[in-house]
Amino acid sequence: MSRSVIDLLATEARFGAQNYQPIGVVLTRGEGVWVWDTEGNRYLDCLSAYSAVSQGHCHPKILAAMVEQAHRLTLTSRAFHNDQLALFYEEIAALTGSHKVLPMNSGAEAVESAIKAVRKWGYEVKGVPDGQAEIIVCANNFHGRTLGIVGFSTDPETHGHFGPFAPGFRIIAFGDATALEAAITKNTVAFLVEPIQGEAGVIIPPSGYFTEVRELCTANNIMLVLDEIQTGLGRTGKLLAEQHEGIEADVTLLGKALSGGFYPVSAVLSNNDVLGTLRPGQHGSTFGGNPLACAVARAAMRVLVEEGMIENAALQGARFLDGLKEIRANTIREVRGRGLMLAVELYPEAGPARRYCEALQGKGILAKDTHEHTIRIAPPLVITSEEVDWALERFATTLTQDFS
Ligand SMILES: *Cc1c(COP(=O)(O)O)cnc(C)c1O
Repeated sequence: MSRSVIDLLATEARFGAQNYQPIGVVLTRGEGVWVWDTEGNRYLDCLSAYSAVSQGHCHPKILAAMVEQAHRLTLTSRAFHNDQLALFYEEIAALTGSHKVLPMNSGAEAVESAIKAVRKWGYEVKGVPDGQAEIIVCANNFHGRTLGIVGFSTDPETHGHFGPFAPGFRIIAFGDATALEAAITKNTVAFLVEPIQGEAGVIIPPSGYFTEVRELCTANNIMLVLDEIQTGLGRTGKLLAEQHEGIEADVTLLGKALSGGFYPVSAVLSNNDVLGTLRPGQHGSTFGGNPLACAVARAAMRVLVEEGMIENAALQGARFLDGLKEIRANTIREVRGRGLMLAVELYPEAGPARRYCEALQGKGILAKDTHEHTIRIAPPLVITSEEVDWALERFATTLTQDFS
């Protein structure tokens, strides 16, 4: 007999560390943009596991690649070669125009690996005195949850009582190229930044910002590290968000949708000799680059392109954004987004965004609040026009609802 929802929630609360406060729905199945709870209710997934399920839940071709590979070989460690890694390298390099690839697992690991690599590059190529390397990051960043990363977070919830932290980071305002210029010293090795700040509430920088950033980094011999873990792989309507400004990062970080949600797969991509500074024994991961991960990622990248998901993200994202902008509700402070990375920011007087997310749940939509007053909207990139319109009707009734 299956366990009741109440029982499952109580059991989670009893044994689990309480580091999340999920919306009260217990999911058991997913297909495309839809997920089902244990009671058979269907929901449109407007979070996509923070953009990891961009290709849609349980994409049949990624599933087939995973099952096929799982029958043959799952893990060798990098002590030996496996027959999937070269193909993964070749395909991700061709897709993104990168020269070197470092495979890891989680997004945070990709960020940590990039930090190690740019520091090493700084000492061995740029000539920064050992131990003096500086990396510039932005206020309200989100790059993951490991100690190295949370140490340069500006969110007290994220770093509070987890110190002491590693030195070597300078924090500047996001979207302000003058602040970047002012923070650069002779020991600066990299600028680590998200093209659009996702967790901060889908914050889009002023147009021209990244063109200036690119010029400053080039002029000062600083590696531009773009964390595209959330924005990359079609989410913003282009393969990489950097393409909106026609620039190229020196180091690009991918994760999340790199596996279509089947398996943690991340990668550090570089365009020059940054990854070349890593020699045997200096960095690694038991699971990084394993054949199962490579097979899954290859299929995830293939369907993204073959099934036109990137173009669809641009098309449906524009439709969704226009529709949201048409909603006349005095709760809405701003609607913003690029591609299918969207957000509705509410006035503080409208009450917590979570209340609206819970109301949306009642209407068959799963969305997640971020930072108190913002509803983030990021459905799988396979969403259709009909599904966008279906969602918009429900957003309209929810955002005009009177909760008082
Ligand atoms: C999710 C995310 C990460 C961290 O990825 P994990 O797989 O959760 O470690 C890093 N950077 C950005 C921009 C993200 O959105």
